[in-house]
Amino acid sequence: MRTQIAVALVLIAVPQPPPTLKPVINYSLRVDSTDLSGWSVEIRLRTVSDTFRLAMAAHPEYDDRYFRYVTAFTVEPSSAIIAKVDSAVWQVIVPQGDIRVRYRLALPSEPLPRAAWRPFLTPTGGLLGGPHAFMYLLGAERMPTTVTLDLPRSWRVATGLERTRDPRVYAAANAAALMESPILAGHLREWGFVEGGVRHRIVYWPLPDATPFDTTTFVSAIRRMVAQTFALFGRAPYREYTFQFQDGAYGGLEHPNSVSLGARSVTLARDPNEEIEETAHEFIHTWNLMAIKPVEYRDIDYRTQPPVSSLWFSEGLTIFYSDLLLRRAGVPLADSTRIARLEGLLSHYLATPAYERFSAESITRVAYNAGPGALGDYTASTHRQGEVLGAMLDFIVRDATSGRRSMDDVMRLLFSRADQRVDGRAIERAVEETCGCDVTPFFDAHVRGAAGGALDYNRYLVLMGLRASVSWAPAVSNGEPERDLRIFGFEARDGTLRLVISNPASIWGRAGLHSRDRLVSIDSSPVNTWPELRGRLQRLRMGDTVRIEVQRPSGPYTATVVIAGFQRPAVRIEGAPNALGQAWLGKP
Ligand SMILES: [Zn+2]
Repeated sequence: MRTQIAVALVLIAVPQPPPTLKPVINYSLRVDSTDLSGWSVEIRLRTVSDTFRLAMAAHPEYDDRYFRYVTAFTVEPSSAIIAKVDSAVWQVIVPQGDIRVRYRLALPSEPLPRAAWRPFLTPTGGLLGGPHAFMYLLGAERMPTTVTLDLPRSWRVATGLERTRDPRVYAAANAAALMESPILAGHLREWGFVEGGVRHRIVYWPLPDATPFDTTTFVSAIRRMVAQTFALFGRAPYREYTFQFQDGAYGGLEHPNSVSLGARSVTLARDPNEEIEETAHEFIHTWNLMAIKPVEYRDIDYRTQPPVSSLWFSEGLTIFYSDLLLRRAGVPLADSTRIARLEGLLSHYLATPAYERFSAESITRVAYNAGPGALGDYTASTHRQGEVLGAMLDFIVRDATSGRRSMDDVMRLLFSRADQRVDGRAIERAVEETCGCDVTPFFDAHVRGAAGGALDYNRYLVLMGLRASVSWAPAVSNGEPERDLRIFGFEARDGTLRLVISNPASIWGRAGLHSRDRLVSIDSSPVNTWPELRGRLQRLRMGDTVRIEVQRPSGPYTATVVIAGFQRPAVRIEGAPNALGQAWLGKP
C-alpha cells in the first residue's frame, strides 16, 4: 500500500515522466489463439552486472508453485549461461547490457469448477498474469514495469494494472504490484460505478453455455456493499478497482485494487446474491489485510511465507464486517439477525475444542502452508475464532464508551495507521485507544500464549442485556441421527494418504487414531486417495464396525471403530437487549 500511495503522488506531481530516463523492465505476454496450452512471456531488461537472477514469486496464502510449468527458458544473447539455483530461481550469467529472456508457461489442466485465482485459457478468454506468469528480477523489486499484452483481437482486458496511452500496454509501479494484478481477458460483460469519487469496474466472464441471471440485482448489491465499506473506512486505499468475476469457478482472492472471484452463472440464476458474502469478504480485505497488513507479510518473495500471527484479526474481522456491512446495505442474508448469526457462531465455537486448547495466535500461525494436521487431533478455523473474538471486543468497546464507539472506530484507527504493519500488540493498542479501557487480560487469555482458554461469552453478552444458554443434543442431519464422521484424509506430498482427526473426543480419536497417521487399509482393503476414503466413510452405517490399519513412525497400528452418533451444542441467545444491545442489533 505504501508504494501505491507513493506512486500516486509521483504521477500527480509529474504527469508525463520522460520514459527513457527511468529504468523499466518490459514484459510481454502473448496468447496464440491456435495454441491455448499456455502462453509465452518475453522480458526485456537492461542489466548493470554480468549475473542476474529471475524468480517466480510465492503467494503468501496460495502458493501454486507455477515454476514447475516453466518451459523453453532462453536468453539472448545466446552466450548466456543459465542455471537453476533454486526451484523458483533462474540465474543468468551474460555480459551486461540489453537482455531478452523468453519462456513459455505450459498450463496444467484445471477441471471445473476451478479456484478463481488459478490461470486458464479458453477460446473465449482466460485469467493470466500475476505470479503464475511473470518472473521478477531479484534485487530490482522496486523497479517499475510495463506489460504488453498480445491477445486474441476480440478479447477485452480487466486488470488492476495501470493503463497507458497504448491500449495494449499496462504499467505496474513495482514487481509486487505486477504480481498482485492478475489479468482477466476475453469476452467480458462489464458494468461500472463511482463511489467516493473512485471508479469501480465489475466484469463477468461467462462460460459459452452460461445461464442468464439477473445482473441488475447482482450489480446493485455489490454497489451498495461498496458504499457501506466506504462509509466504514472513509476512503479507498486505491485509485481504481476491478471486480473480476468468472463463471465455472469458486472462491476468491483479494488484491490491492482488484479481486478474482468465482461466480457460477448457474448458481447466480437461482440467486443473484449467492456470491455477495464472498465478494464482500474479499473486498474488505483490500483494507483489512492488504492495507492493514500483518507485520510478517513481505512485499514479494519466492520463498514460502513464514507463519503469520494476526490472521485471526485479518480474517475474523473481515468476516465480521462482510456480515455487518451487508446488513447495513440491506442485502438479505441467511442468518436473519445478528443474534442468529452469533448463535450459529457460538455453537460452532463450542463444538470445536481447538479454540479452548489453542490461542488465536497459535491457530493463525498454522493457517498458511503448515498442512493438515498441524494442530494434532484438532481442527480449527482462524476465521471463525477471529469473528467470535471480534464480536466480544465490539461488546467491550461499546460498553466502555457507553455506545459512543464500536469496532468501527478500531478499524478506522488501524486504517489511519496503515503505513505501519500490524501484529497482536498493535491491534490491542488500537482497541485500548478506542475504548479507553484495558483489554490486555482479554488478549492474554485468548489471543497470545499457547492456550485459547475458555471464553466467558456471557460476561460480554450481558453488557448488551443478552444471555446465551447451551444445550447439547445428539447431532441430527436431514432428520436422521448424524454419524460421527469427524475425520478426513489428505494426500501428502509423498503421495501417501494421511488422516486428520478433527476432534480427539470423536469415535476416531477415542479409537487411538491420530492426525497424519498414514492410512493403509479399511477392513483389509487398501485406500489410497481422499475421494476413495470419503466414499468409504459415506457408505458406513450406524453400528457398523470398521478396522482401520495405519502406519506411523513407531510402527503399524490397527483401530477398531464402531460407528455411532455424537453430541452437538446449540446456543440460544435470550434476554431483552438494553440500549447498547439495541444499537448493536438494529442501528449499528
Ligand atoms: Zn479471507
